[in-house]
Amino acid sequence: MKKAVYPGSFDPITIGHMEILQRSLEVFDEVTILLAVNPNKKSTFSVDERLEMMRNATKDLKGVKVDFCPGLTVDYCHKNNATHLIRGLRAVTDFEYEFQLSAANHFAAPDIDMVFFMAKQENTFISSSTINELYRAGVDISPLVPPIVVEMYKRKTK
Ligand code: ADP
Repeated sequence: MKKAVYPGSFDPITIGHMEILQRSLEVFDEVTILLAVNPNKKSTFSVDERLEMMRNATKDLKGVKVDFCPGLTVDYCHKNNATHLIRGLRAVTDFEYEFQLSAANHFAAPDIDMVFFMAKQENTFISSSTINELYRAGVDISPLVPPIVVEMYKRKTK
């Protein structure tokens, strides 16, 4: 069984993340979307809120697990017998960060390889921070996120 891990901040999960996840399921038997802590980012949603959104958004997808890892994602892969890390690429700006991340991961765990999926063209502008900004500006974000995310924003602003 081929297992992969798709790590990210998912703050919140978007249709861009979902699209990469669905494509990765065509390559791997099991994909864990892993809430990983990015120390460079200030979060909008708590860990529990993000996990709830990730679980709800993926509940109908076969072969998907949702988990949280406060430590290194490559350690998580070793513990869970996953061989690959999935990431998405939207633009050249993503490339530089992802290239460095891949080198750091390779240094820490040469047996874990990274697999990159190119964003669908119409999703290239979608990022969690853009969603947050659009929502705060009063724009309808429902076409860009799973329905649970809209609910969670409403719950938060009540
Ligand atoms: P991180 O803080 O680890 O970058 P994110 O949740 O922002 O976490 O992103 C997780 C991964 O998903 C990254 O590889 C990112 O490039 C990718 N990603 C985010 N949004 C999209 C999108 N719209 N299309 C394709 N990939 C995306």
